Amino acid sequence: MITSANTIKPGTVAIVGIPFDANSSFMRGSAQAPVQVRNVIKSGASNMCSESGIDLASRPDFIDLGDMSINSESDAIENIETTISELLQRDIRLISLGGDHAITYPIIKSYHQKWGQLEIVHLDAHPDLYDSYDGNRFSHACPFARIMEEQLASRLVQVGIRTLNPHQKQQAERFGVEIITIPHLEKAAQIEWAGPLYLTIDLDVLDPAFAPGVSHREPGGLTTRQVIELIQQLKTPIAGADIVELNPARDPSEMTATVAFKILKEVAARMLE
Ligand code: MN
Ligand code: MN
Repeated sequence: MITSANTIKPGTVAIVGIPFDANSSFMRGSAQAPVQVRNVIKSGASNMCSESGIDLASRPDFIDLGDMSINSESDAIENIETTISELLQRDIRLISLGGDHAITYPIIKSYHQKWGQLEIVHLDAHPDLYDSYDGNRFSHACPFARIMEEQLASRLVQVGIRTLNPHQKQQAERFGVEIITIPHLEKAAQIEWAGPLYLTIDLDVLDPAFAPGVSHREPGGLTTRQVIELIQQLKTPIAGADIVELNPARDPSEMTATVAFKILKEVAARMLE
């Protein structure tokens, strides 16, 4: 389905699924997320309008490219980077649907090639700054260590973090990562971004009461409303985004996929403004 990218107009905002979860440390399943989100979209339970009134269904500059094919687990990181780079060459902006959070590293590598130094806003219960996790430097617990040590981003602001351990605290200090904890959420809306801005949303930033369908449930998280307001209040255009870590095996009610769809609409609307 990605091959239809030949006919995409520059400026388009496109969804691309990245069904890959082999770097998950605790349980797999997020590779099934893009299919589940599309099932919710197709179900007809909700329309395609953002809260700001943008009807995504009527926008020719909003498309779904389908899922990228991952040929082998061992080459997946390079595979993702190559495919994302090819898409970005067409002057489109992407909303990538994971997959686990390990996909963000190759995506950011591609974005860095096309857009230069990025600023990243990262919503997550976890800082994902491990140097290595279970012997895997590409684990979903590590992408922001790789991104910062390769200087792919000039600024990394993490929001909603509530699992910072001593190693990751040290990593955050080493890389100059800014962490906004939940009692100080309003600070996120006050940031003056220099841009280009990349938004990465790990759904476990939400409280499991709102989004139980994730591998690493961490109570004490954000409400759906708080996440929507964070997105709506970012004071700059968004160059690209991803929504990761939905695990359909933990989401039999499709509640979390429904939240992912809602967030997708709000992110897409901000990118199309
Ligand atoms: Mn994460
Ligand atoms: Mn997380």
